[in-house]
Amino acid sequence: MKCQGAWGSGTGYVEFQDVKVPVNHLIGEENQGFKVMMYNFNYERLRNASCASRFSRVLLEESMRYAFKRKTFGKRLIDHPVIRLKLAHMARQCESTHNWLENIVLQTTLMPRQQVNTQLAGGIALLKAQCSIVMEYCAREAAQIFGGLAYTRGGQGEKVERLYREVKAFAIPAGSEEIVLDLGIRQAMKSYEQNRKSKM
Ligand SMILES: Cc1cc2nc3c(=O)[nH]c(=O)nc-3n(C[C@H](O)[C@H](O)[C@H](O)COP(=O)(O)OP(=O)(O)OC[C@H]3O[C@@H](n4cnc5c(N)ncnc54)[C@H](O)[C@@H]3O)c2cc1C
Repeated sequence: MKCQGAWGSGTGYVEFQDVKVPVNHLIGEENQGFKVMMYNFNYERLRNASCASRFSRVLLEESMRYAFKRKTFGKRLIDHPVIRLKLAHMARQCESTHNWLENIVLQTTLMPRQQVNTQLAGGIALLKAQCSIVMEYCAREAAQIFGGLAYTRGGQGEKVERLYREVKAFAIPAGSEEIVLDLGIRQAMKSYEQNRKSKM
């Protein structure tokens, strides 16, 4: 296995040749593995979404703390209305996103897995996009609040610098934003058509 370097995570190339899988290790039905993988994406997306939501909150927390500490033009950053506006836009997005996340997670605990697969896939897909878009927004605004410190490794802006760099590890894997946004609407189209047909 050859590993390739990456700042976010290393990747490996795995080759399978003449691999035999014991029957009792089979997940789902033979030759239906793709479906299992696709359903599993719901849970991978939820994990990805909860990490991104948490990181948005970390970015907000770091920004608040720093805004109370740093003084420019004789005032703390928090005393500049422009900075408070940035924090407000971060906070409203963090709060609403986290509430949506809790709502979806609760539904996954109440529904049988099969129902999650069929009925929650669209909601989870849209939530995943929401979480990475909010994280990207918060990372950008946090970096502006930290100024030059957000561009140096280590020191007070360490978390902000790292998280800004990590945004794409949430916006791309487990379905890129473009793909999951489209999936969310395609799932809604499917239920719309089904409802319409059942009423005819
Ligand atoms: C940190 C990280 C971890 C990862 N971990 C894993 C892992 O554990 N296992 C694994 O198998 N893979 C993993 N991946 C790979 C990941 O699943 C892919 O990078 C991701 O699905 C996007 O595919 P791609 O890179 O081939 O981009 P492409 O598919 O080439 O897409 C390029 C761009 O075009 C857009 N695009 C593509 N198709 C369409 C379309 N039909 N409509 C509109 N826009 C489109 C995409 O949104 C993207 O913006 C990981 C990636 C990253 C960055």
